[in-house]
Amino acid sequence: MPFHEIIGHEQPKAILRTALVHDRLAHALLFHGSEGIGKRLVALCFAQAINCDTPHGPEGPDACGICRSCLQILAHTHPDFRVIEPDREAANPQIKIEQIRELGQHIIYRPLVGQWKVCLIDEADRLTLGAANALLKTLEEPPAHSLFILITSRPSALPATVRSRCQGIRFAAPARTQVEAALITKKEIPPEDARYLAVITQSRIGHALTLDANATRALQDEFNTLVSPKTLRSVSTLLTVAEALHKSDRGQEALEWIAQWVRDLILVRVGADPDSLLNLDRLPALQEAARGAHLDALLELHEDLDAMARAATRNLNPQMALENVLLRLRDAVSATELRD
Ligand SMILES: [Zn+2]
Repeated sequence: MPFHEIIGHEQPKAILRTALVHDRLAHALLFHGSEGIGKRLVALCFAQAINCDTPHGPEGPDACGICRSCLQILAHTHPDFRVIEPDREAANPQIKIEQIRELGQHIIYRPLVGQWKVCLIDEADRLTLGAANALLKTLEEPPAHSLFILITSRPSALPATVRSRCQGIRFAAPARTQVEAALITKKEIPPEDARYLAVITQSRIGHALTLDANATRALQDEFNTLVSPKTLRSVSTLLTVAEALHKSDRGQEALEWIAQWVRDLILVRVGADPDSLLNLDRLPALQEAARGAHLDALLELHEDLDAMARAATRNLNPQMALENVLLRLRDAVSATELRD
């Protein structure tokens, strides 16, 4: 897919193109920014651009998207293109040292058909220490024809030694209006659904594209009962709900929705523009809950929820976490005083 068809990310695209045109491309790039905003898509298009068979146009090299090389990269079958990623089905997804060693063997040989050997390392923060050290050795003396693109939403989780070998390129979520327009075109959905999905995913287009508006609304309704006064007021109800969610393996999902609710509560409590709320349609309930809420407790809870989301599959007992979060939310909003 050519660069101009990618939604948003004007700055990263400009940096990459300029580096290419002036022949100043670093051997290792670190794409960082929130989850699901399109870092991997840009990396893939860039890999296509630098190996594309079609001569480039006035704006410099780009991917035509239809030549043999572009198609092979898209299908992950190009002999000079590798993707390294953790096994996402594993209990603790990691990029293992064997994967990096194998890559080291692959990268030393000259490209077979393209100009560059490109290696994309997705979720690079999940490199084990051994894998990170092995990668560092390669990055210290990269073969002339090699390009590494590391992708992460948690750059601080990467060893500083690895980070220092990479040129960092920061990605921000595209504007909400851009995401809305893209959803209308790509998913052929009504504007109100596009707007809803853009809001609820905080403009994370990759995520928004995978969601169905009505199914998401139903989920939102369901999970919002978790934070309703009726649930929060009674500790036994709250514990029962947490247990039921855990048993149906939906604890993690519930935590994500609660995090959105807590975020909104904080925004309402500090008098932010309602337009920035994810649960805008529940504004009265948010206002009621925020009225007597303890801001410090909410902020602390939000920070912890954020940390839990980052640790996602690691060392977390979802039922205990959920109980703990609901009890803290109950305290933070003084639930016993809330009306239904
Ligand atoms: Zn091409």
